[in-house]
Amino acid sequence: MKIKSVSFVVSNTDHKKCPDDGLPEFAFIGRSNVGKSSLINLLTGQKKLAKISSTPGKTQLINHFVINDEWYLVDLPGYGYAKASKSARSTWEKFIADYLTKRKTLMNIFVLLDSRLEPQKIDMEFINWCGEKQLPFVMVFTKIDKLSSSALQKNLLKFKKEMLKTWEELPPIYTTSSVSGFGNEPILNYISQILSMS
Ligand code: GDP
Repeated sequence: MKIKSVSFVVSNTDHKKCPDDGLPEFAFIGRSNVGKSSLINLLTGQKKLAKISSTPGKTQLINHFVINDEWYLVDLPGYGYAKASKSARSTWEKFIADYLTKRKTLMNIFVLLDSRLEPQKIDMEFINWCGEKQLPFVMVFTKIDKLSSSALQKNLLKFKKEMLKTWEELPPIYTTSSVSGFGNEPILNYISQILSMS
């Protein structure tokens, strides 16, 4: 897919206030610092984009960007802030959960995982919750330039084993590096493929 235009549309915490023009959307989520902003910049080729989401006040919001006037890229707040208070966390959980479960135009969730880390409880909980709710998602392993390909394969295997404890089938798995650009095209192609079916 060629990215011809990208623009910021709206930020909010309420799925009911998200754009209502029916364009299909693709959400990106992961623990803070996983490399979400860098990946979004890579995919869209626009450095300013993720900057918008990471300006104070916007990191905890659902941020919609329209791509090629055809689909929305949705930057969701990072989860797993160790320092966030319990009440802040449950507010987060509620509006994100509402968005993810009630948004009819949501086509896919890209769950970002740091390729250097072994399966983390919070990520597995989120993934399993997506499963319970039957939400479509793929796993995206970020920062692969930071480890050798054998270490990457070893860690992917750990994830697959962990997943197969509760899942019959594995979701699609992508690996990316925002430094080298690896993984950019396959993800955009995946989005194109879903768009062509919708
Ligand atoms: P976010 O909090 O998930 O939006 O994460 P950021 O995109 O801000 O990235 C967190 C840190 O990881 C920053 O210092 C980035 O430069 C770094 N980073 C992100 N992606 C990559 C990557 O693919 N490779 C390397 N080496 N560093 C990365």
